[in-house]
Amino acid sequence: MSRLGVPGHLYTQKLWLEMWKKDQDTKGKWYGSIQESLPARPWYHRIQDATRDFITIINRLRFGHNTAPSHLARLGIIANKTCSHCNSSDGTVEHIIFDCQKFLIDRLVLASELSDVENKCDLLSRPPPLKQLLQDEHTYKHIYKYIKNTIKTI
Ligand SMILES: [Zn+2]
Repeated sequence: MSRLGVPGHLYTQKLWLEMWKKDQDTKGKWYGSIQESLPARPWYHRIQDATRDFITIINRLRFGHNTAPSHLARLGIIANKTCSHCNSSDGTVEHIIFDCQKFLIDRLVLASELSDVENKCDLLSRPPPLKQLLQDEHTYKHIYKYIKNTIKTI
């Protein structure tokens, strides 16, 4: 039982629903654009062997709350929003995944892996926007691997 006197899983489901509704009303509807309706179970219930670290990193990408310099600077947590790996662009998640020159080899591996996921990516062209990639759970393990091999966490 949770502190509200309801079974724990119902309490968690209530928190999940409130967070989803709140996100729908605020901050550019990033999450709402990835998850159009509220599922009965969290996304990771459908993925076998989902570790806590995997769930945390994918959740951060899905909710748009992450440790990328651009996001931390917007929140006033750090002063410099520049990517610390190349020092030439804003350190957004999109820059880190799609553009940062520091991670060219890892990006080629990611593009190759994504090309096997229902043609999500062509090696010769830019991959779909991050929002679009995050709508397909089959991309998650590849994006997670890229994050772990490059910046370690997000
Ligand atoms: Zn960079």
